[in-house]
Amino acid sequence: MCMIDDSEPVTMLSRQEPVATKTHRCTECSRAIQPGERYTREAFVHDGSFVQHRTCAHCTVVREWLARECGGHVFGEVGEDLHEHAIHYRRVDLLRLCVSSRRQWRNRAGALIPVPEVPPTSDERAAA
Ligand SMILES: [Zn+2]
Ligand SMILES: [Zn+2]
Repeated sequence: MCMIDDSEPVTMLSRQEPVATKTHRCTECSRAIQPGERYTREAFVHDGSFVQHRTCAHCTVVREWLARECGGHVFGEVGEDLHEHAIHYRRVDLLRLCVSSRRQWRNRAGALIPVPEVPPTSDERAAA
């Protein structure tokens, strides 16, 4: 089920966490990262191609969970991977995160929601 298991590793060239000085698009959820927001900017080679990838702070939380749960993530598939795990584990907290991600992290009024906490992993839940 974990997407990372069937993925080709990328060759990371650089990774930074700058504060946006202009609007950027999150490569994961496609939302606009606004000036003043911190985001993750990575450059890597995948399949022989040079890729510039930007991840908003909210999607970084999902990446963090996938890193803890499965040992990594696939670039551009973070939302879909989360959804598959939510269905597989029948976890409402993960499904809620999926819904927020699909709404590009906005509430019903259209305002950006606070960056969520990283949900517990399956192991952490089992131990609790
Ligand atoms: Zn997994
Ligand atoms: Zn995003």
